[in-house]
Amino acid sequence: MPTIDCNFDRHHLWHPYASMTNPLPVYPVARAYEVFLELEDGRTLIDGMSSWWAAIHGYNHPVLNAAVVAQLQQMSHVMFGGLTHEPAVTLAQQLVRLTPEPLQKVFFSDSGSVAVEVAIKMAIQYWAALGKSSKKRLLTVRSGYHGDTFAAMSVCDPITGMHSLFKGAMPEQYFAEAPACRFDDPCTDLDIADMRLKLERHHRNIAAVIIEPIVQGAGGMRFYSPHYLTRLRELCDHYKVLLILDEIATGFGRTGNMFALEHAAIVPDILCLGKALTGGYMTLAATLATERVAETICSASPGLFMHGPTFMANPLACAIACASIRLLESYDWQASVLRIEAGLRLGLEPCRTLSHVADVRVLGGIGVVELHNPVAIAAIQEKFVDQGVWVRPFGRLVYLMPPFIISNKQLRVLTTAVCDIVQSIR
Ligand SMILES: *Cc1c(COP(=O)(O)O)cnc(C)c1O
Repeated sequence: MPTIDCNFDRHHLWHPYASMTNPLPVYPVARAYEVFLELEDGRTLIDGMSSWWAAIHGYNHPVLNAAVVAQLQQMSHVMFGGLTHEPAVTLAQQLVRLTPEPLQKVFFSDSGSVAVEVAIKMAIQYWAALGKSSKKRLLTVRSGYHGDTFAAMSVCDPITGMHSLFKGAMPEQYFAEAPACRFDDPCTDLDIADMRLKLERHHRNIAAVIIEPIVQGAGGMRFYSPHYLTRLRELCDHYKVLLILDEIATGFGRTGNMFALEHAAIVPDILCLGKALTGGYMTLAATLATERVAETICSASPGLFMHGPTFMANPLACAIACASIRLLESYDWQASVLRIEAGLRLGLEPCRTLSHVADVRVLGGIGVVELHNPVAIAAIQEKFVDQGVWVRPFGRLVYLMPPFIISNKQLRVLTTAVCDIVQSIR
């Protein structure tokens, strides 16, 4: 006897990027544990998505569960205006310690999109405090993704972000070509020429460059050269523009380093974190700023940073984040990610020879099969579920980013399913 009313869901519930009148099927999940999603009908699926980058430790982890219970018995929430608490302080200490030394100031918010809004407001307030009020716009690269709220959406890829639909309702930003130099390649003058040109032309109006370091996620699952970031940092300094790195997807080990910025050894002025911050348990995000950014913002009228969410630094979420970071640091996570990388490389390689496959690429715990044409999502989703795995392609991309705890055998099931199903849709 099913207890989840899928018919009600179908008629009343929006799902992400979905139609309300003609929705695609959704699968009812009864529970989740380790790397498994257990459907209501009893089938268990091996999770290849980590619930969109977040569940790095898998589901229902005893250590994280214990952290939830312990914090719940103290308090689940108190306002952050005029009050503080141990989970917020401890988490901020951990984030300041883990990120590059100049990033010292932490602003907590509820979701990745809001962390990006906060970063953008910080950049604009920074220049306003220095009397440069013309510097209000952002420069970014094509194929990016930074979230769904208005300012975040304005720096997403203009095509996949549907900017034409919201034209006039959304700030207009500057776009440079997406980095074309691949992860293992150097970044040539040509690779960064468009970025340099846009900075040269418009720097007087630009508050910050915002970019996802190394991995462009939902905008295309593209990996680019760390050398591009090194050169971008130099250009931002030269043209007096702040650099915002959006590590919401890449943070906490996914690319093989704790943060993707470590591949390039650069320091941003502002850093956004989210997704895996709580190990996928709750929504929480953080925006970190350098001492210089924070001091400049607070040196001029109104002397404050103008943002403050109701659920800022939610104690429950902060306590889970602390436990998740401690858990990550308690074992050799880097070895796990390298093991997953090797398994993804080996397991996805057979796709490369298929004529309808454009590219196969792997970096850390991310494996991508890019097709020439978009996939029919509902049909392919059903095939994956029938093979006992949870993989959710989008557009021309079939990709895997499993929890770090996945075994080699389970990973093999995932990559085999991807190869079989990609082959079958030729
Ligand atoms: C997911 C994501 C966001 C938005 O985070 P939400 O929590 O969905 O608001 C922003 N930037 C990047 C790089 C992301 O992957």
